[in-house]
Amino acid sequence: MTRICVFCGSSMGNKDEYRLAAKQVGEYFVENGIELVYGGANVGLMKIIADVVLQGGVKVVGIMPHMLIEKEVVHKDITQLISVETMAERKEIMIEFSDGFVAMPGGFGTLDELAEILTHNQLRIVDKPVGILNVDGYFDSLLQFFDTGASSGFVRQEHRDNIIVASNIAELVEKMNNYKPVIMTKWIEDIKIESNES
Ligand code: AMP
Repeated sequence: MTRICVFCGSSMGNKDEYRLAAKQVGEYFVENGIELVYGGANVGLMKIIADVVLQGGVKVVGIMPHMLIEKEVVHKDITQLISVETMAERKEIMIEFSDGFVAMPGGFGTLDELAEILTHNQLRIVDKPVGILNVDGYFDSLLQFFDTGASSGFVRQEHRDNIIVASNIAELVEKMNNYKPVIMTKWIEDIKIESNES
């Protein structure tokens, strides 16, 4: 993977571990020449990663809706800024531009972006790996929700099992490099049969 999109907080979070992890992600990108695609902001964990990658001389692409640019949260030093009309368009371009995705601690925006790519992968609209960087157990409750989804019959077990998780970036990217999409026809057929039976 030469271009990874990072979804993460527009806030810093209240633990040093979050900031440290963001710095480590940036350093890993620099060491491995991986270009950063992200929301384009100069706030929160996003700013930490972008600053480290830029300082390391590696390309940073920010994708931001006009509405946020006008609110002046745009990072002025990034290599390339793509301005878009809507949040939906932003996600589309993030997905198109990137070879893989990393979700780090964040809030609703991060969750929205993560859910979008998980759904796209499930439907095989794209086949690109998404990894969750579980810093200090931040995503434990979300992973538990995915387990509940699987045990309750709303998430296919193979989709749950295909979610990549690690607590450090090197291990996460290594796992992402081995990503294999779930074959789709089988589960679509199963859903149809299940719905006809009830
Ligand atoms: P959140 O996790 O709610 O802080 O939202 C962060 C995620 O949503 C990032 O990955 C961004 O792509 C997007 N986002 C939300 N708020 C902003 C903002 N103020 N500036 C730039 N991107 C944002």
